[in-house]
Amino acid sequence: CGIVGVVGEARAKAIILEGLQRLEYRGYDSAGIALLNAEGFARARAVGKVGRLVEKAGELGEAKTGIGHTRWATHGAVTEANAHPHHAGRVMLVHNGIIENFRSLRAELEKEGRTFESETDTEIVAHLIDREVEEGADLEVALSRAVERLKGAFALAILIEGEETRLFGARRGAPLIAGLNGSAGFIASDPLALSGEADSLVYLKDGDIAVVSPGEVTVIDSSGKPARRERQPAPTSH
Ligand code: GLU
Repeated sequence: CGIVGVVGEARAKAIILEGLQRLEYRGYDSAGIALLNAEGFARARAVGKVGRLVEKAGELGEAKTGIGHTRWATHGAVTEANAHPHHAGRVMLVHNGIIENFRSLRAELEKEGRTFESETDTEIVAHLIDREVEEGADLEVALSRAVERLKGAFALAILIEGEETRLFGARRGAPLIAGLNGSAGFIASDPLALSGEADSLVYLKDGDIAVVSPGEVTVIDSSGKPARRERQPAPTSH
């Protein structure tokens, strides 16, 4: 339902949790956060209010890069195991929307020996990306190959272990924006989540894959080619 991501900012954890609180009004049933540093991932998830997640996230260390999510369950019960972020190998991600062909993709991945920890339509996306990353493709190529397999609607924010200075996004049929300031980069489902943090915003187009690093965003369009996207000044916050 709601997505917030941060790359390259010492207050990443606090910014993500505040962003999720700003998106609470949209409704949700559970929430989660994952942080990435050179030691790897740390994750906390909670059913119920973002306030419960804030308590749990207190036990996580600090990192400059992370993603957060408020979930409005469509596939899989409202449980901690079904809350995002979802993890597979080197990949951690959050998802808004519905993957319509998740059952056949899950069967395909299970045949390859991959095991699943949730009942969601989302978890297969982490495995699809991890499979491409394992095969050694460039990360942008890995992402476009993985999302090509998806039917349905998605906005995704993705972390890849070993890549803590880059945050990845992809969208089709669900909104996603990138945000920048002089020293950090952001991703969100709604500009409200970034108010007071991002100086400029990049509205991603349908089919885009975005690579966000501190102060910079590059985009590949649905045909796999580099694309220019206009930077707009972020609305001033009060
Ligand atoms: N379909 C996903 C799930 O049920 C994402 C729902 C959402 O947009 O929050 O976990």
